[in-house]
Amino acid sequence: MAQDAVPPCPHCGQPLARFSLPDEGGWDGTFQLACFNDDCPYFVRGWAWMEEHYGVRSSYRYRLDPATGQASPIPVWSRNALRDRIIEDDVLAGPSGEDVIPGDAPGQGGEGI
Ligand SMILES: [Zn+2]
Repeated sequence: MAQDAVPPCPHCGQPLARFSLPDEGGWDGTFQLACFNDDCPYFVRGWAWMEEHYGVRSSYRYRLDPATGQASPIPVWSRNALRDRIIEDDVLAGPSGEDVIPGDAPGQGGEGI
């Protein structure tokens, strides 16, 4: 297997998913691991815990930093929160491909400046 083994979530046993962090996080790693299983007891319990202690409708997911091995909860405000940041294993886009605007590239193969 060429891919790195992803450890399972200790709370539900589902494999953790890679996801990229928001820019303001300040972490060094390019990605972290989290359990995105909506049935994970850690996530399910979080809703009641947050409402009971803070009166907010929010929860958290199990998160593991692969660089340090440190696990800590990452807050989520909905079931879909952070899902758009999940890194699919079989879809590897370019590192900065989102900034490319297709369809307007200069087709003239000149030497340029
Ligand atoms: Zn889990």
